[in-house]
Amino acid sequence: MNKRKLASFRKILLQEKEVLEKQYRDLEEGNLHNSQSEFSGEMPFEEEYAASGTTTFERERDLSLSENVKDLLKRVDEALDRIDNGTFGVCEMCNGPIPEERLKALPYANLCITCKQKEEKAFR
Ligand SMILES: [Zn+2]
Repeated sequence: MNKRKLASFRKILLQEKEVLEKQYRDLEEGNLHNSQSEFSGEMPFEEEYAASGTTTFERERDLSLSENVKDLLKRVDEALDRIDNGTFGVCEMCNGPIPEERLKALPYANLCITCKQKEEKAFR
């Protein structure tokens, strides 16, 4: 992959990282205060849950969300490392190239589609 393409993927990944970091902070704050977070648009049922006393469930949901965001952040960081060490766009399992279309949809993809499907089958 040429330098210009790598640079544009790096930019996308850095933007993604920023968004994820903000989400993570918001989620952590939400957990700390255990009240309304700034996600008014994305969590329309929050008040309803609080009112019906299902706050434990609510906390667990927030935790798994922040775990999810943390996981994505890790993958974005790993992809940025791969850009630095020249293995970005290379499948970690078969060392084949990951199609650019896939990387555009999922810039932190570390497996080609074939290996990803194999991996998913292995987990079933
Ligand atoms: Zn592969």
